[in-house]
Amino acid sequence: MDRQQTLRRQISCVGIGLHSGNKVTLSLKPAAADFGIRFRRTDIGHREVPATVQHLAGIQLATGLASDEVAVETVEHLLAALVSVGIDNVLVELNSPEVPIMDGSAAPFIYLIHEAGVKRLPEARKYLKIIRPIAISRGDKRIALYPSDHFKVTYSVSYDHPLLRHQSRTLRITEESFTEHIAPARTFTFLKDVEMLRQNGLALGGSLENAIVLGETGVLNNALRFEDEFVRHKILDAIGDLALVGYPVIGHLVAHRAGHALHTEFAVKILEETHAWRLVELSDAAALPVSMGLKHAAPRLAN
Ligand SMILES: [Zn+2]
Repeated sequence: MDRQQTLRRQISCVGIGLHSGNKVTLSLKPAAADFGIRFRRTDIGHREVPATVQHLAGIQLATGLASDEVAVETVEHLLAALVSVGIDNVLVELNSPEVPIMDGSAAPFIYLIHEAGVKRLPEARKYLKIIRPIAISRGDKRIALYPSDHFKVTYSVSYDHPLLRHQSRTLRITEESFTEHIAPARTFTFLKDVEMLRQNGLALGGSLENAIVLGETGVLNNALRFEDEFVRHKILDAIGDLALVGYPVIGHLVAHRAGHALHTEFAVKILEETHAWRLVELSDAAALPVSMGLKHAAPRLAN
């Protein structure tokens, strides 16, 4: 049986918020089965915000959550790391409204999770298995989920910039593929937008230490981690935003020129389209692809 997981022990790190520029301490703490992923603000009465679409707030430059007066910003890179490593239940404590940006990627969070260790719980994990297509388009921006035997992402981006025209990538997402190919991809911005962000009191913590900055003729950081680091980071963002449905998804996510606003609108729509998916446990033979016998499928689907 495929079981829920949490962390083996508590672990902490310190970083700065990308938009606020404030120093923040982040702690990840083990939690019981069916607790889900919840944020807790230790600076305002230990109040909690669950990481679900019901608490979405602020989705322009990053994904934010709020419950009553309690807000948490820039949750997507941490969520992507947690769900890709298979952490279903965790309490995320912050002493500031923003998850630290670290190096702009999810790699530091993967490192933290591995340092804490993963603990299996007795309870079965439920997956949201797509059985009919779900899609949204807004102008030339599109996002869709199709039935598939695995969680797979195809993402394409196109920009009007000499260094970044069109990039596209398809990847089956597993802990290994995410850790190697997606987690290290950093967030990016265009130099011409940095001044506008600063004037609006945003990206105050932004620097070449935590974002790729594209100038007119080159990348100000000197080097990229991957030739197509930009589209890889879009995949990272999409995985983090999709985590807000509250279950790991089995399906093929296909997105073109989307962003946080469309990703999160889509996460809401998925939960509304109840005829397009069902909740399954992987011990359930009915959840397996018709062409695969249980005997062969079990090792491939096991964690
Ligand atoms: Zn991002």
